[in-house]
Amino acid sequence: MNIIDRIDGSLITSRVPRIPVSHYPSTCSVVSGGRKYGSCLRQLYWKWTGETETNPLEVSSIWKMELGNSGHLAIINLMKKAGFDFESEVAGKVNVEGLKYPISFRLDNVIKSKTNKVGLEVKTTFMGSTNSVRDSGPKVEHLMQVMCYMKFAELNEFVLLYVDRGSGYRMQFFLTLKDEKYYCDGKEIPFTIKDILERWIELEKALEEKKLPKRDYKVWLREDGTVQERKVIKKVINKSDWQCLYCPFQNKCWSTFDARDDCYTLGVGNPIPEWKPIGDIDEP
Ligand code: SF4
Repeated sequence: MNIIDRIDGSLITSRVPRIPVSHYPSTCSVVSGGRKYGSCLRQLYWKWTGETETNPLEVSSIWKMELGNSGHLAIINLMKKAGFDFESEVAGKVNVEGLKYPISFRLDNVIKSKTNKVGLEVKTTFMGSTNSVRDSGPKVEHLMQVMCYMKFAELNEFVLLYVDRGSGYRMQFFLTLKDEKYYCDGKEIPFTIKDILERWIELEKALEEKKLPKRDYKVWLREDGTVQERKVIKKVINKSDWQCLYCPFQNKCWSTFDARDDCYTLGVGNPIPEWKPIGDIDEP
């Protein structure tokens, strides 16, 4: 009996890509400070049009996701033991002006107190991603996700909780919404829900016009045209954007005739942002 093979097989067969019928907070993106964060519109376009994945998720990645999910459940149980009163898996669907398709959401928990309700999103991290959050604050993708929950589930306060799966290191950030502005630990987040909605509007326009969006992210290409995870130039490591490295359409995207025009080239490497809004932009 090979347990690993059997679980691997079950994980692979249970993961069938589905064509979206809603926008989801996990597919948010934004342009802020001259940089793009979050989902690539070209990738979303291919998901919405049912394109076949050329680089499906590796089974080890599915294991990691499943272990992350079980970590969430463990934390929820700990909260129950600590006496928190909360609702789990709070879901909803809203229609928003300017968008043809609805936005669907499902947030982890809403903690109830005598006076108010506070949303909770739990993220498990590991090593590098833990250091990144500790040093720079929550990831932009997580802030966007929580901002959507706050807006559409009508919550003015929210806790974003990070727990490291290996060391048990814990961090929490408190988000507030006031006069359409969002704050993380008192610091104003430099983009708004409107900025996030604009990107979904752009996606819907591309779908309507059947026009493939441009690439939002870049990679280093080898001489033979294949994607290179990193390129060392004068002893400096230059990474391809992680969004492309994890993209299920990577080969399709970077094997076209115009790929060389869009990829990183010598002298035009992965730019170091002049400022970070809040949070790092490294790997998920
Ligand atoms: S490979 Fe990169 S640029 Fe291309 S669709 Fe995927 S994320 Fe977007």
